[in-house]
Amino acid sequence: TAVYGPDAEGSPAGEVATYVHQAPYDDLQRVTAFAERVDAVTYEFENVPAATAAAITEAGVILAPPAAALASSQERLREKDLFRALGIKTVDYWPIADAGDLQAALSEAGPSILKTCRFGYDGKGQAPLQGSEDAERVLAELGGGPWILEAKAQFSRELSQVAARGRDGAIAFFDIAENEHRGGILRRSVMPAEVSASVQNQAQSATRAVLERLDYVGVLTVEFFDCDGVLLANEMAPRVHNSGHVTLEACVISQFEQHIRAVAGWPLGETDTLTPSEMVNLIGHDADRWESLIAQPHTSLTLYGKKETERGRKMGHWVRPLLR
Ligand code: ADP
Ligand code: MG
Repeated sequence: TAVYGPDAEGSPAGEVATYVHQAPYDDLQRVTAFAERVDAVTYEFENVPAATAAAITEAGVILAPPAAALASSQERLREKDLFRALGIKTVDYWPIADAGDLQAALSEAGPSILKTCRFGYDGKGQAPLQGSEDAERVLAELGGGPWILEAKAQFSRELSQVAARGRDGAIAFFDIAENEHRGGILRRSVMPAEVSASVQNQAQSATRAVLERLDYVGVLTVEFFDCDGVLLANEMAPRVHNSGHVTLEACVISQFEQHIRAVAGWPLGETDTLTPSEMVNLIGHDADRWESLIAQPHTSLTLYGKKETERGRKMGHWVRPLLR
């Protein structure tokens, strides 16, 4: 396993890799030199630049998931346009290039969420709005345009579908996870979520449509708002996903192994949930309590080995079976 990244040295992946290439993503000469040493490249971060992905493909190396998946998932507007083009329901949304756009959209939208189109994660790059705000001021405070204004969904819960598509086109779905967020950050996931056949069908067919449209290879996660049985797609991640970490303990094959199987062109594994489980994220200094956490019954702990503890940063998680 070889790792390429701007901070690969001392990074969690760098610690377990046999070879680490530390360089910026946009240093295309270094990217090409790296690609020449490996058979296939995958990524665990959707903000890898499109030009980097193109350089890998041009070096004749397999890139999975494909560059098109990277392009759609790193730009919120393009992502929602893709959902809509595939007939997948979303909240109403408006592209925002300037204060004039925002003022006009706000008068239609009412309660809504303004998001930067790029580089947002864990609720960062977002501002909840009521509709009466001063557009000029809001954009200056949030920074980093262009933006998307989304109507605020009135959801009863949040769900996610982790799935994989192999090089042969085979698709495997994990059970749907139910996710609780606090302050825009995932706090807890339960797998399997209790869902009706209709909800399962909506989640699977939306995810399948994305996988097939993008000729996708690897693990993909689609996040949904469940609005009383009607699913709206929120966003997607072209990688293993936090809500799928529970698969490490809950399923025969974890999302991580599944991803590697897909990228390598191996058969996909079984996705059944053997042990219905909950996962809770350790955010910031939560992880300092690791010793008392592992003393709890049935608790499996994973710490990521990130060097700096910051407020709001995901440092690890624990998983416990749901004992009934
Ligand atoms: P990210 O996960 O990249 O930070 P999301 O778009 O998933 O960005 O937003 C994070 C969380 O904020 C969501 O999981 C949800 O709880 C809330 N949220 C985001 N968009 C909306 C929306 N349009 N309506 C209601 N809640 C939203
Ligand atoms: Mg999200």
